[in-house]
Amino acid sequence: MITLKEALSLDKGEIKELRKDLLKKIEEKKELGAYVEQLNGNELSISGEGIPIAIKDNIQVKNWNVTCASNILQGYVAPYDAGVIENLKSAGLSPFGRTNMDEFAMGSSTETSYYGKTKNPFNPNCVPGGSSGGSAAAVGGGVAIVALGSDTGGSIRQPAAFCGCVGMKPTYGRVSRYGLSAFSSSLDQIGPFAQNVEDAALLYDIISGYDKRDSTSANIEYKPVAPNLNSDRKFTIAVIENYLEEASDEVRKKLEESIEALKKAGHKIIYKKRLNTKYDVATYYIIATAEASANLSRYDGVRYGNRAQANNLKELYAKTRGEGFGDEVKRRILLGTFVLSSGYYDAYYIKAQKARHLIKDEFEEIFKEADLIYAPVTPKTAFEFGSIKDPLEMYLEDIYTIAVNLAGLPGISVPVGFDDKGLPIGAQFIAKAFDEQTLFDGALALEKILK
Ligand code: GLN
Repeated sequence: MITLKEALSLDKGEIKELRKDLLKKIEEKKELGAYVEQLNGNELSISGEGIPIAIKDNIQVKNWNVTCASNILQGYVAPYDAGVIENLKSAGLSPFGRTNMDEFAMGSSTETSYYGKTKNPFNPNCVPGGSSGGSAAAVGGGVAIVALGSDTGGSIRQPAAFCGCVGMKPTYGRVSRYGLSAFSSSLDQIGPFAQNVEDAALLYDIISGYDKRDSTSANIEYKPVAPNLNSDRKFTIAVIENYLEEASDEVRKKLEESIEALKKAGHKIIYKKRLNTKYDVATYYIIATAEASANLSRYDGVRYGNRAQANNLKELYAKTRGEGFGDEVKRRILLGTFVLSSGYYDAYYIKAQKARHLIKDEFEEIFKEADLIYAPVTPKTAFEFGSIKDPLEMYLEDIYTIAVNLAGLPGISVPVGFDDKGLPIGAQFIAKAFDEQTLFDGALALEKILK
């Protein structure tokens, strides 16, 4: 597959050819199930004149059906473009194809989608990860040049690791959330999927920047990363020891090999422990569900998408939401409503906010000595469909990714090899807030070393 960098230098005629070519590939690899349109039995067409880019089904593209892979949003048509979509269009890219995802981005396997399965490009019996599983499978499976996803607790980095591509979550506030269907507003960020680090940096530059329509958008100076990429810088890299200890043998082995390679290349490796990891999952699942319960209250059958038949207003709300949301979404709305309810607010929500500060401080401590943190992305490689039935076990998929969202930091997943079943393994760099240059430079250095 052609890279974004190459595509950016094509003329109009060549891009037209490229689009035809891509459509053919997508049709040939239909079984992958990366695109909602195909899972729906619809024709996928690429209109627009620019370089085609695949978009997760929770980002508004004007006149598209945008459904967050939920039954409740069937029939909804986006009336406007998200900030990132405007950016893409002015950079000469054309959004096409909605990529499959876990319903409302809640999940780690894309199995909670209303539309059905997206398969792992390396093994059709395994999940692509989630929640941006469609975007990861599309790029990793050679049916997209680049794609956009969203990451609330790992939803870009984890599927990128499972599908053998690069996936990056920007610093909170760096990329506009205007037009991203909100899951957990204090954690959500849109970010790029790409075939290599340089493409991810190019796409990151295109979508980044201040947007006054997003009140949490960071209004601070922005310097493009891609033109300044430098893989020769030498870094002090902190490896989080206890992350490695908890990972499966195959993930740990690959990580250790890559740490040796980084050392050899002249980077200084230091070892650090994170003592508060036991709070990560609990903190995340209180804050994320609390915010989700508020954000998802707008889907009432009156304003968006599906509406149930009912005799009165109360029944309309109840039936629409009862029929429209899947089990995982309902579980989270219930949990989130509970932790926000009077009498429990202090015990859960306020406590979680305090724990969030502790987690943030812990990262800041490590960054006093290190330029970058190096960690696994996932405890294991991609698992088989249906093999994780317990929701709590699924939540533990995120142990290496969610703290990064809680602390608002940028992170990137880079492929570092395969397990003995041929499934990809990813490693993660984490950088200081707004230091995306160092993040991408480190990732590029690693990519080069491993080549
Ligand atoms: N797997 C995590 C969850 O289910 C993260 C999802 C995400 O980042 N959107 O909440």
